[in-house]
Amino acid sequence: QAKQGGSNDFRFYSSAFTAGINRQNSIEQELKMALHNHAFHLFYQPVIDIHTYEVVSVEALLRLGNEEIGPELFVPIAEATGIINPIGRWVLQEAIRQSHAWAANGLAAIPISVNVSAVEFRDRDFIGHFEQLLQEHAIHPAMLQLELTETAVMYDLDEAISVLTRLRALGIAILLDDFGTGHSSLAHLTRLPLDKIKIDKSFIFQLEQDTSSRAVTDSMLALGNTLELEVVAEGIETAEALDYLRSRGCRQAQGFFFCRPMSGEDFASWYRTRRIGSA
Ligand code: C2E
Ligand code: MG
Ligand code: MG
Ligand code: MG
Repeated sequence: QAKQGGSNDFRFYSSAFTAGINRQNSIEQELKMALHNHAFHLFYQPVIDIHTYEVVSVEALLRLGNEEIGPELFVPIAEATGIINPIGRWVLQEAIRQSHAWAANGLAAIPISVNVSAVEFRDRDFIGHFEQLLQEHAIHPAMLQLELTETAVMYDLDEAISVLTRLRALGIAILLDDFGTGHSSLAHLTRLPLDKIKIDKSFIFQLEQDTSSRAVTDSMLALGNTLELEVVAEGIETAEALDYLRSRGCRQAQGFFFCRPMSGEDFASWYRTRRIGSA
C-alpha cells in the first residue's frame, strides 16, 4: 500500500515538474515572439513628492501583450535564457521614444526610470550600448534614470562601482531598487555611487501590522538621510501608509494609492487633469 502511494506521489511530482518546464518553455517562446512582433509595451507609474504632490519621475514597467504573464513571472525566464539583453535594449529605446513623444505633446519634462536586471547590468556590452543609445537619440541624461537591485550591484562590487561611475559621469541618476530584500552590507552600500534608494514594497505593505517592517523602514529613511540619498517608498496602497511615511520624513512615494501603472497616453491625460494638492 505505502509503496504504491509513494510511487503515485512520485508520478504526481514528476508530472508537475514537467508541466513547470513546459510552461517555462512556452513563456520563453512567447518572449521571443513578442520581441520579433513588437508585442511588448511599457506602462508608466509616477513617483510623487508626498509634500507637494508634484510628479518627480515615472517608472517604466514592461508588459507583454498577454496580461496573464506579468514581469514577476517573465523577467526571471528572460534572464535565465539571456533574451533579457535584447528586451532591455528595446525597453531603453522605447522609454526614450516615449520621452520625446511626451515632449512633442507639450507635457512637462518628467524623468523616466528604467529597470535594469542583474543579467543586463553584468553584460560586458551594457555600458557601451547605453552610451551609443544616448548619442543616437539625443536625450538629455536628466530625463533617464536606471533602477538596479542589490543583487545586480553586489555581485562584483568593484566592477559595479566602475560601471555606475561611468553612468553617473554621463549624467544618469542611479536608483537602488527593492532595497532591504537583498544581502548588501551597509559598508558596501556606502561605497556605491547612488542617487536614490527605493524601499521595497514588502515592508510598506506591512507598516500597519508589523513593528519590524516599521523598524526597517525607519532605518532605511535614517540611512538615506545620513548618506544624503533621496528615499522613495514603493507600494503605497493606503492613506495610513502614506501618513506614516510622511511623519517619518520620507519625501517620495509610488503606489496604487496614487495610481496604477498605465500606458504612455493614459499617463499624459492623467498628468494633465490631476489636481495638484490631492492624491
Ligand atoms: P519593481 O521595479 O520593484 O517595480 C515595482 C512593482 O511594484 C511593479 O510591478 C508595480 O506595478 C508594483 N507596484 C507599484 N505600486 C504598487 C502598489 O501599491 N501595490 C502593489 N501590489 N504593487 C505595486 P510590475 O510592473 O509587475 O513589475 C514587477 C517587477 O518586474 C519590477 O519590480 C521589476 O523588478 C521587473 N520589471 C518590470 N519591468 C521591467 C523591465 O523593463 N526590465 C526589467 N529588467 N525588469 C522589469
Ligand atoms: Mg523598479
Ligand atoms: Mg522595486
Ligand atoms: Mg521588485
